[in-house]
Amino acid sequence: MTVRRPELRWRGQGVAEGVAVGRVLRLHDGAPNVYRAVLDKAADSAREIRRLRAAVRLARRQLLDIKERASHEFGADHAYIFDAHLLILEDRKLFEEIADHIQREQVNAEWAVKVVADRLLAIYAEIKDEYLRARGADIEDVMQRLIAALSGKRRHRPQPAEDAVVVAEDLLPSAMAELDFKHVRAIATDAGGWTSHTAIIARGLGIPAVVGLRDLFRRARTGDCVVVDASKGTVILHPSPATIAGYRAAEAKARPIVAPEGGREPLRTADGVEIILRANVELPAEYEGVRRYGARGIGLYRSEFLLSHRGVVPSEDEQCAVYQEIARIAGADGATIRLFDLGGDKLGPFSDEAERNPALGLRAIRFSLRREDLLRAQVRAILRAAKNGRLSLVLPMISDVAEVRRARRIIDEERARLEGAGCEIGPVRVGAMIEVPSAVLTADLLAREVDFFSLGTNDLVQYLLAVDRSNDEVADWFRSLHPAVLLSIDHTVRAARAAGIPVNVCGEMAASPAYMVVLIGLGVAEVSMNPSYIPRIRRTVAGIEARRAQEIAAECMRCATADEVEDLVRQRLGGWWPHLFPPELLPAPREPEAGS
Ligand code: PEP
Ligand code: MG
Repeated sequence: MTVRRPELRWRGQGVAEGVAVGRVLRLHDGAPNVYRAVLDKAADSAREIRRLRAAVRLARRQLLDIKERASHEFGADHAYIFDAHLLILEDRKLFEEIADHIQREQVNAEWAVKVVADRLLAIYAEIKDEYLRARGADIEDVMQRLIAALSGKRRHRPQPAEDAVVVAEDLLPSAMAELDFKHVRAIATDAGGWTSHTAIIARGLGIPAVVGLRDLFRRARTGDCVVVDASKGTVILHPSPATIAGYRAAEAKARPIVAPEGGREPLRTADGVEIILRANVELPAEYEGVRRYGARGIGLYRSEFLLSHRGVVPSEDEQCAVYQEIARIAGADGATIRLFDLGGDKLGPFSDEAERNPALGLRAIRFSLRREDLLRAQVRAILRAAKNGRLSLVLPMISDVAEVRRARRIIDEERARLEGAGCEIGPVRVGAMIEVPSAVLTADLLAREVDFFSLGTNDLVQYLLAVDRSNDEVADWFRSLHPAVLLSIDHTVRAARAAGIPVNVCGEMAASPAYMVVLIGLGVAEVSMNPSYIPRIRRTVAGIEARRAQEIAAECMRCATADEVEDLVRQRLGGWWPHLFPPELLPAPREPEAGS
């Protein structure tokens, strides 16, 4: 017997446009992936069923151990929960259903467990009785244990079946990198902000995403029906049929329009200043967009997305193959490979001890200099890949000239070693990410040591304004148009110009039409962004005059507060180019503080 449950609504921050209706897929962090493998021959299904049987035995042993430990630690009264888990695990019918799926579909055991589990969870989600419905969580737990047991020990990450709306407390990029996005309709997380990596990837893939939902993860169960409306920042759990019908229509309308093939001719402002638009890429799913949207090569390849969830670093040869592929996709315009930027809101798998303040911890270049073996292997892979492609390398989170010198020495040593061994390599330019205040202040010194700057505005805003880019609680303080940010960009561009090196702005700022005008006004001529944003930015650039952008930027730099800058931008852009800047493309007016 099923019953309609009341709708539950959350309000968060929409960080990637779109509307979706689907079923919840809860992702716990820390669990790896399940893949679908098609079996070659019938005999293989017998082997998969043997594996399944062995996994049930292993999971059973684990549960008995846990039960015993639980009854010691919490008393026998609380250990009964594991009896329930054992009952599910030992259920003959369940076993047969999974075995049957393996045989019928000729798939691996992990996948069969997942499919059967998803089916069951969807049924449980509809049960009237609250207590019984909550047992869905037990099933989820046991199935995850079983999938983990199939691979030896650890729990595995559930994979999306169809119409999945991924719900998580937070999503590490590594977890996202392991997801198969083919069936992911939307993403909804308790934590996160506009420049968190969850948001960046979701925008890159064109998947609607809402972050900052506080306790959605705790309340939602895998299989629950859910609506995600990123335009309003709303998530609705257990939507009524009427709500679903309304959103289905919106979903169809909001489907991303495939942008026309990007033009290859140079892009110029209305008064003739050339602006280069490059692509930021992380995952293979985004590669296709580089060509489709006409990016002038790849301005930022975030190589840390190559690492698996458990922190397994690909070998030098594996990396070389990926970098060659990146160079091939980028073509004559070339690609900039960023050395692993680990730590912060990215991967932290190399230490068991959580850092107290990871954004200020062993991150990016600090990590690479500490783990020289990994750094050297990555550098060799890039140098080798550059033999038949145009590649540059950029050092992340530089805060001191000394780091550049150390890294360059290592690069030179590896280059000499490869040449000495007769290995073919190619020329690689070396750049520095400017994303830490100390790098801005010493930009003139850094500019003498590198071939180019990549200006990372996401971290620059975070570090300059001391505001965690992934924490929705402080999202209001993340102000890309804060005067300090504009002064920093101006300072960096001037230092680069004086030294005769280019600057590529590769933070999320460049993907916003309004911010782009300010960047052009500050003298930025090269930017990179998620490829899907290129058509929109191209339209903006072609429709504005750089001369006027400079006037606006000069005025902005005289403002005292972020609010004043935003007001000014709204007025000038909306007044001069109303056809390019409807209100939704301008910074939203802030609600006045209560009492003011
Ligand atoms: C940035 O910080 O702006 C940047 C481009 O790098 P990431 O977002 O990967 O930190
Ligand atoms: Mg950064």
